[in-house]
Amino acid sequence: MKEYLLPHYDERRSGIDMLVLHAVAHEGNEAAQCLDSLKVSAHYLLTSEGETIKLAAEECRAWHAGVGYWRGVDNDLNSHSIGIEICSPSLGQEPFAEAQIENLIPLCRKIIRKYNIAPQNVVGHSDIAPQRKPDPGAAFPWKRLAEEGIGLWYQTENALKMPDDNAAELLGLIGYDTRTPEAVRASAYAFCRRFAPQYVVLDADVHHLTEHVLPDDFGFMKEEKFMTTLRAVAYSYQTALV
Ligand SMILES: [Zn+2]
Repeated sequence: MKEYLLPHYDERRSGIDMLVLHAVAHEGNEAAQCLDSLKVSAHYLLTSEGETIKLAAEECRAWHAGVGYWRGVDNDLNSHSIGIEICSPSLGQEPFAEAQIENLIPLCRKIIRKYNIAPQNVVGHSDIAPQRKPDPGAAFPWKRLAEEGIGLWYQTENALKMPDDNAAELLGLIGYDTRTPEAVRASAYAFCRRFAPQYVVLDADVHHLTEHVLPDDFGFMKEEKFMTTLRAVAYSYQTALV
């Protein structure tokens, strides 16, 4: 495996129990240089050509998650996680290259097995930092990954087994930050990026997207189909083995 080791890491303060997937809007060495200039890192970088580049040793606490929240853990998600950056010029708004997904699947499976990571703890950057981050984006193939044993998907008919109609409660059951009304709205949108991408507004200007992560209109939250998907996903997360 090629290496491009970045110095932006320190010592972990907890064990590894999460996998965080990212997208970066540059390719190859340029993506690594971009992370370097921002004084951040990750453990692996996957190029569109199907190359895997090691950026930091897994035992290191690479700086990729920033301020975040997931399933009650409200700080230092870097200590808890392995981070993978996936090159995508559109920042995950257009389909990812097949070669990199074919590389991503065995890499994720190996990490999940090695650290015994619960399926509920395989997340995107936008899941843990919904007010700040749009990656890995609405085109990220979460359903396909779930079919490969990486993270969770849902079955629509299971929505009936979760009669709760409170969006904030359901998002909280999945693991999202719902501690403030702003967090609930951002988490609902992050949920759409992952499970209901038809509600996500695409933005051809990637720079604008990174500055304006959330849309002005949250009308989708009133839609029956959104609530049905939310209930079905919450059921998956609640019933999956930890
Ligand atoms: Zn990210």
